[in-house]
Amino acid sequence: MRITFFSTQSYDKAWFEVNNQIHDLHFVDVPLSEETVILAKGSGAVCAFVNDKLNEAVMGALAEMGVKLIAMCCAGYNNVNLQAAKQYGLTVVRVPAYSPHAVAEHTLALILTLNRKTHKAYNRVREGNFSLERLMGFDLYQKTVGVVGTGKIGAVFCRIMLGLGCKVMAYDIHQDEELIKMGVIYTDLPELLQKSDIISLHCPLNEATHYLINAESLMLMKKGSMLINTGRGGLIDTKAVVKSLKSGHLGYLGLDVYEQEDKLFFRDFSEFVIQDELILRLMSFPNVLVTAHQAFFTEEAMTEIAQTTLENVNAFEQGMELKNKVD
Ligand code: NAD
Repeated sequence: MRITFFSTQSYDKAWFEVNNQIHDLHFVDVPLSEETVILAKGSGAVCAFVNDKLNEAVMGALAEMGVKLIAMCCAGYNNVNLQAAKQYGLTVVRVPAYSPHAVAEHTLALILTLNRKTHKAYNRVREGNFSLERLMGFDLYQKTVGVVGTGKIGAVFCRIMLGLGCKVMAYDIHQDEELIKMGVIYTDLPELLQKSDIISLHCPLNEATHYLINAESLMLMKKGSMLINTGRGGLIDTKAVVKSLKSGHLGYLGLDVYEQEDKLFFRDFSEFVIQDELILRLMSFPNVLVTAHQAFFTEEAMTEIAQTTLENVNAFEQGMELKNKVD
């Protein structure tokens, strides 16, 4: 089958080509949108990623061109209008789990970097500055970590933090018995926010979780606490978070995802004037660390993404059961 890949990066092309044997792969580097959807002409399937726009207009255009399958190369599908897909007879598949470890470990990297300021120490030492002034962190041991969403990624993250000797509290609409046996304490969201020193978000973005962290929920959090978001940008009201950072209430912020990331992430703007005032404000804080949606980005995860996506396409083409179908 001919497959058009949108938002292609060099590493996507490399990983998919190495894992492909039978399909005709077409790579375009622009994101999928109403303006670019025409590039899918002649393909039976399109592959899309986290910031591609899969709205009703795009679905209609894809169906009209004869595209039958949308293969998401990621787990989240908040950017896919599933109702429109159904309306136009398009099947949507995804990669439900590529490496929960990749994201959970990156979450820990954000926490440790913010806490122990290794990014600052690296630069200081290279400039001959061996002072420890303003580099003091805190022990993670015995701190309370609040995990929102204990699915595949959240569960791995809970285990990592238990291993570091933290107390782990969790909030999820479904409780994981295995985690309870290991010592995770489930509670409601307000109590989790009130008691945690570090809060990490691992739930999907949907109507119920949009702006889960807002002005009110920030006020419930302990003064000086750390907020980490490797889930989706829309889980956080970024303007409210900026206010809380300015007032000194929120102590640290680590983001791998950002509300307006579709206009920035996965591209190089180093020689351009960035127009997004909010991200510029965020990056001006000494206690904020932003990575550009790289939590998933390990060799193991890329292999799994390429193999599962191609298996999804094979299964669809051969009329087999689609275990990774999104309904
Ligand atoms: P998952 O489906 O295994 O787990 C999600 C968990 O969230 C489930 O346990 C679910 O019950 C819970 N949940 C759903 N609605 C909730 C609500 N309203 N309140 C609290 N909990 C709720 O998904 P996963 O594989 O663990 O991934 C979690 C999220 O991480 C994805 O949806 C995606 O947005 C994000 N993600 C980010 C990256 C990255 O590179 N930054 C990579 C992969 C996934």
